[in-house]
Amino acid sequence: STQVPILAADNLGVRYGSFVALSDVTLSIRPNTIHSVIGPNGAGKTTLFHALTGRVRASSGRISLNGRDITHVSDDKRVPLGIARSFQVTSLFQNLSVRENLRLAAQGRTPLQALAPWRGVDPRGGALAVADEVMERLELAHVSERAAGELSHGQQRRLEVGMAVAAKPRLILLDEPTSGMGIDDVEAMKALIRDLGRDHTVLFIEHNMGIVMNISDTVTVMRAGRVLVEGPPALVRDDPEVRRAYLGNM
Ligand code: ATP
Repeated sequence: STQVPILAADNLGVRYGSFVALSDVTLSIRPNTIHSVIGPNGAGKTTLFHALTGRVRASSGRISLNGRDITHVSDDKRVPLGIARSFQVTSLFQNLSVRENLRLAAQGRTPLQALAPWRGVDPRGGALAVADEVMERLELAHVSERAAGELSHGQQRRLEVGMAVAAKPRLILLDEPTSGMGIDDVEAMKALIRDLGRDHTVLFIEHNMGIVMNISDTVTVMRAGRVLVEGPPALVRDDPEVRRAYLGNM
């Protein structure tokens, strides 16, 4: 289509010293879609996230957000443009309540945001309202006063996603949102991502092929720092190169 992608990478390359982690990565994320990135360990998925958020520098190529070149925009200046991410490493204040965690996220005052402070929501009245709205949406309202550290694993992972959602981004990046989860928590996360996709653009790294094939509009398959295939789930699943890369494990 002729729609301007919300985020696009053109021939993106990233090096760590002399090691080439990404080369010639071209990727286009359409607004209001759910887009997943898959690939074997070491394929460069996390490096791609780091490059898109500005945490690592592109050594070649170009990144654009809503058609604007942001290749040389620092990470702290990308966040106010509407990108928020969750990390595999926890970003929660363990001793604070669920509501307090979300309020701080809405105000742009979490440790992650201190590294990359964003505008946040209205610091006076709006943040608590946002926290309550996000709690409802994530089905965490019944544990709103409980300390984050006392939540179940699945609830903590949902709260981490909530911390990104509370910043009111247009594009949400999720790094392996279901890793280490039991089957019920996986189902809840799957439903949550699908729900977020109704009014956000979601880009996520995932190893669980069931989820990827079930909820993605578009799948990008990476291998050895390159894009192997990109397309709708059915096309990707049947691609012979993809099957070879996964040795039939999908
Ligand atoms: P996984 O699924 O295991 O998380 P991935 O697809 O996210 O893997 P990356 O973490 O992006 O892969 O790593 C891609 C390659 O870059 C790997 O070979 C990794 O060892 C290397 N790499 C990652 N970070 C660095 C770094 N800071 N310095 C040097 N090499 C790195």
